Order: sequence, then structure tokens, then C-alpha cells
Amino acid sequence: MVSLAPRPVSTPGRPLPVPYSLLIRNCGQLLTLSGGPTDRPLAGPHLSDWLILENAFVACEGPIIVALGPMAELDEAQVTAETQVLDAGGQVVLPGLVECHTHLVFAGNRAHEFQRKLQGESYLDILASGGGILSTVRATRAAPEEELLANALRHLRDFRRYGITTLEAKSGYGLDKETELRLVRVAREAGRRQPVRVVPTFLGAHVVPPEYKGRPADYLAFLAAEVLPALAGAAEFVDIFCEEGAFSVADSRRYLQQARELGFKLKIHAEQLHDLGGCAMAAELGAVSVDHCDYLSAPDAARVAASGQTVAVLLPLVPLFLRQDKYAPGRQLIAQGVPVALSTDFNPGSCPSKNLWLALSMACLKMGFTPKEAIAAVTLNAAWALRLAPEIGSIEVGKRADMLVLNVPDYQEIPYWLGENPVREVIIGGQVHA
Ligand SMILES: [Zn+2]
Repeated sequence: MVSLAPRPVSTPGRPLPVPYSLLIRNCGQLLTLSGGPTDRPLAGPHLSDWLILENAFVACEGPIIVALGPMAELDEAQVTAETQVLDAGGQVVLPGLVECHTHLVFAGNRAHEFQRKLQGESYLDILASGGGILSTVRATRAAPEEELLANALRHLRDFRRYGITTLEAKSGYGLDKETELRLVRVAREAGRRQPVRVVPTFLGAHVVPPEYKGRPADYLAFLAAEVLPALAGAAEFVDIFCEEGAFSVADSRRYLQQARELGFKLKIHAEQLHDLGGCAMAAELGAVSVDHCDYLSAPDAARVAASGQTVAVLLPLVPLFLRQDKYAPGRQLIAQGVPVALSTDFNPGSCPSKNLWLALSMACLKMGFTPKEAIAAVTLNAAWALRLAPEIGSIEVGKRADMLVLNVPDYQEIPYWLGENPVREVIIGGQVHA
């Protein structure tokens, strides 16, 4: 299993041993996610070719990992009365999960539409009748900012219990300048008030609001002229829903180019319900991720792979919840060399689940991932989808101490216990949360 040389046990050149602030000892399997290329997301065989250390330790100083290796190489001189010692008891330890695609901030829920879906109405039928995203937009516009923040904090607490240590949060249920800016502000404030790192994304181009009905290009022109400049660094990424009933490929291209000129990094929701060509278009514009990909064709997947940097974010709980048979062709994408990540797409309409472990299992069951590939897709590659891989997503000296101690001894049990939460302890920035 261990195919690569372990990294040095401690940082070279250190003059005197400094006590560790946190030591995790007796890790039955330490899933380091290290050993592959560091200048791009993991693709093809690299997705499963990373280092697992058995009977290992990890040590931190403050928020940073400073040492790891086999237990036999632990320097006890750096373990003092000041060191918090966590005994993993032979269980799996891995990087904190990175949720790279959520719609965190919204009001209300769409439980009433669940029944309509069960009776056979499609997602696009419900959207066309003023339901779907637009019903959440009405509730979100009417909600006080404190209520939106309280909802976001409650969801973040749930995510943390599932082992999520970094989470991307999209706006997109305001669809007007004031509410969209409020949603980004709420996401940032929620990040400040609890330990999970929150990365806001601007998705004002989620659907066409009622005020611009039938005029998608005018709405995008308004966003580009009035709203993107007003974000002023509050969001690093700009996203768009490229789909029938939302925005065309041509309109999406023009808008993403404008966002890029303003200095934003790009994301796209594309090929969720139809093969329109949005993923390849966005990859060619240098998008950091192309998300959904259920209908991504093999020729377009090759165009995404050619970029080497664009991550395909696959969302297997969405077709499950929408009762669709078609899942993104994960196995084929991996074979074609497309870097892949996995996420829940947490949102009130098409995936009201925060269980990224279930998404990981579904990727194995429905998309042909191996357990090791799926683990890389919710850690290091998900960090790449947020361009945070230099800091998080693997357990390596110098990286942020975001880690999980699980209650299983073998990583192969992670996708096997379907729907369970295997998290025992969550460590964020070197702080332990039970
Ligand atoms: Zn989404």
C-alpha cells in the first residue's frame, strides 16, 4: 500500500526542539494525500497514488503541521506537559473534508415541492411554474439578515460535525443587487463566527429574476456593470448556471469573460441536465472548476482535461434527489485525465443534504470511483477547486492542521458504511473539536 518514501519526520534546520502543541498518535492509517504532483490537481492514476502511513503520528505547532511519520520515529523530546495528546487508537486519520460547492445562505425550504417531484414533476417544470429556485428567492429576499446568518451558522455546525473544515458558499437566492451583496456578506460573517473556513462565491447569475423575465442577457449585463464591481474583494469566485431555462453558453461566455477582466476566478454549473457545451467553454476560459458534468460528453471532457487545472466537481446526491438515472461519468472522466472533486451541492431544492460521506459512497456506487479516488476528491482535489491546495487538502509539513480522526480502522470502510458519519474528532487549525 505504501508506495512512496515517507517525508522527513521533522522540519530540518530547527535549532532547538519546540514542544508540539498537538500530537495525534497511534493513527492506524494516516491518509496523507501526499506524494503526487503539487503544481496541479490529481488526475488519472495520481488520484489514487498517494501515501498512506500505517501506525503513524502527526504533530502540530499552533495551526500548522510540523511533523509526521511512523510512531517509531516520534521525537518524544517535543512532547511535553504543554502538548495536547490525542490518541487515534488505531483508527483512520485524514485531512479535513473540503466542501467545494454549496448554496449555504438561504431562507425557508422546499419540502412542499418534494411531494410534487415524487408525483413526477421535473426540476425544470417546477422552475418554469415559478417554484424551485424562484420560491427560495422570494423567501430569501424577505428574510432579515440576522435570520439568514442564524440559518447559515446552524448549517455550518452540522457540516463541521460531518468533518467539513472548509466550505464554499454561493450566493444566488437574491437575484438583485442588495440581496446578493447581503448573501455574500452573510457568508463572510458566518465564516468569522465559527471555526469552519468559509469561501464565498458570487452566483448572482443563478437564474433570470422575475424583473428580467425573458431578458437573460440584460440581467447579466446589469450584474457585470452594477454588482460585480460592488463586490470589492468580498468574493473571489464568480459562478453561473449554464442550462436551458437559465443562461445560454454564449451569454455565459460573455459574462465570465467580463468577470475575469474584473479579476475574479471562474466557476460554472454546466451539463447538469443537458449537453450544451458549457464545461468546455469555461475550461477554455481558465475556470477553476466546472460543476455537475452529468451530461459532459467525451470530446468535451478531453477539452476540460487539456487545461490541466480545471477541476470537474461532481455532485452525485443531486441526481439521487432529483430521481434521475444519469450520473456524471466519473470513471470515464478519470480515465480521460480530468481532475475530479466531489461535493454535496447542499441547497434547498436539488440536494438538502450535508452528508459529504454519502456523496463519497454514491460516487463509488454510481460513478465508478474507487474508495481511494473518492477520498482524494473530497480533500486535495476539492481544495484545488477552491485554489487552496497550497494550504489545505493534505497532511504535510507546513500545511494547515485541518484533520479528522475517524471511528473506522481502514479507509475502505469509509464508503462502505452507507450514510453513516464516521467522524470522531475534527481538528481545525490545530484546535480539537469533539
Ligand atoms: Zn449548485
